[in-house]
Amino acid sequence: MIQGSGRCHYHPERTGLGICVECRRVICRECTTQFEGINRCASCLGKRLQALEGPAERRDWSVGNVLLALLGVGVVYVGVWVLSTMASGF
Ligand SMILES: [Zn+2]
Ligand SMILES: [Zn+2]
Repeated sequence: MIQGSGRCHYHPERTGLGICVECRRVICRECTTQFEGINRCASCLGKRLQALEGPAERRDWSVGNVLLALLGVGVVYVGVWVLSTMASGF
């Protein structure tokens, strides 16, 4: 990791202090964002946050679908069990 070399990709007049782990561009102190303890430039952080938000919503939906499916299976199972109990009772 080469640090302190070159100029910021977004600010050519500023000295680069770090390197974005996503795009490997040299970035200055103001462009450096620390998220999850990792240096990223502002645009890559935005993409990272979008990526986090996107799948999270879909995950919530799938969890809801799984719960609904489990609920449906449980209702059918209990229904079959009640029917079989009633049938054996007669
Ligand atoms: Zn970047
Ligand atoms: Zn900069």
